[in-house]
Amino acid sequence: MEYKIALIRGDGIGPEVVNEAVGVLDAVAEKYGHKIQYVDVLLGGCATDAVGKSYPDGTAEKCKGCDAVLLGAVGGPKWGPDKPAEQRPETALLAIRKDLGLYANLRPATLRPAMAEASPLRKETAEKGIDLMMVRELTGGVYFGKRDRYETEDRGMECTDLMAYSEKEIERVGRRAFELARLRRKKVSSVDKANVLETSRLWRSVMHRLAEEYPDVQYEDVLVDNCAMQIVRDPGQFDVLVTENMFGDILSDEASMVTGSIGLLPSASIGDSAPGLYEPIHGSAPDIAGQDKANPIATILSTAMMFRYSFQRPEEADAIEKAVDAVLSDGWRTADIAKPGEKVVGTREMGRLIREQLKVL
Ligand code: NAD
Repeated sequence: MEYKIALIRGDGIGPEVVNEAVGVLDAVAEKYGHKIQYVDVLLGGCATDAVGKSYPDGTAEKCKGCDAVLLGAVGGPKWGPDKPAEQRPETALLAIRKDLGLYANLRPATLRPAMAEASPLRKETAEKGIDLMMVRELTGGVYFGKRDRYETEDRGMECTDLMAYSEKEIERVGRRAFELARLRRKKVSSVDKANVLETSRLWRSVMHRLAEEYPDVQYEDVLVDNCAMQIVRDPGQFDVLVTENMFGDILSDEASMVTGSIGLLPSASIGDSAPGLYEPIHGSAPDIAGQDKANPIATILSTAMMFRYSFQRPEEADAIEKAVDAVLSDGWRTADIAKPGEKVVGTREMGRLIREQLKVL
C-alpha cells in the first residue's frame, strides 16, 4: 500500500520523538512492502518563529491531502500566555482538531507487562492488568459553549460557561465507542452525570438507543464520580469508556497516571472522513529538549494506532506494539521510566532498538 503522512514535528522534544517514529514507520514499510511519503507541516511555536503565526494559512488543506497526521508536541515558555492568540501553539492545536473535524479522542491507558511495577496502584490491582480505551468527545460540551462574564448588583462578578450537546454529537462519538469495543473485549462503559445534568440525561438516552443496536457489546452506565474512583480501585474492569469532553479530559489524565508514565502513552483523534491525528499524550517537555533524553515510545505507539485505526492494518500495529514490549522486557529504559540500576538509553538508541526488534519479529 502507499500512504501519505503529514508530519507536524512541533516544538521542544517534538522533532526528536517524531524522528524515531518515522524510523519505525520506515521499518514497518520495509517489512510489509508499503511505500510511505511524508509531508512536513509547520505548526506550533516553530511556525510562529518562522511565519509569525502558530497556525499558518493552508495547514488544514495540507493535512487533508494526507492519509494521516503524526504530531510530536507543541508549546513552550517562549510562546506563553502573554503572546497574542495567533502566536500561541495551543491556538493551533485547537484549530487543527476543529478544521479536520476530529470529534473523537482515543486515549488508551495500557499498563505494559514489563512496566507493571511503574503503576502507583497497589501491586495486586496492577497485576490484574490495565488495558482500557478512553473515548472522549472532543469538539462539544462546556469547552466550546458560550461564555459570559458580567457584573451583578449584589454578588460581584458572575460568569457562565454553557455546556451544550446535541443528539447528533453524542451519537457519532457513541457509535465510535461501540465499533471500537467490537475490536476489543466488547464492553462499553458510558460515563455521565445523569443524576444532575440535563446534557447527561440526553447523553444517556442516546447511548441506550445505540446499545440496542449493538447487542453483542456489553453496556453499562457509570456516574463520573464513581468512574474516577473505579479507575484507581479496579481499572481492569473497563474496556472502552466513552464520555463527554470535560469528563474525558480529566478521566483520561487520571487513567494515564495509573499506568505509570506519560512517556509511554499514545493517542488518536479521529473524525468521519478527514485524516486522523496521532500524537503522544505528553507535551513538548522543554526541560529535556535537544538532550537525547526524551522517551520516543508514546510517539512510536501512536504510529501503531495510525496503522490500526486509519489504515486498518492491525498486523502492522501489533508488530509495533510487540517490538516495544520486547525492548521493555529486555530491560531497556529511557531515563523517565528507569529505576536505579536499569539499562538507560537515549531517544535515538531507544528508537534503534525498537526498529531492530521489528526486523526480527
Ligand atoms: P510535558 O508533558 O511536556 O512535561 C511534563 C514532564 O514530563 C516534564 O518533566 C517532562 O520532561 C516529562 N516528559 C514529558 N514527555 C516526556 C517524554 N517523552 N520523555 C521523557 N520525559 C517526558 O508537560 P508540561 O511541562 O506541562 O508542558 C510543556 C509544554 O508542552 C507546554 O508548553 C504545554 O502547553 C505543552 N503541551 C503540549 C501538548 C501537545 O502538543 N499536545 C500537550 C501537553 C502540553
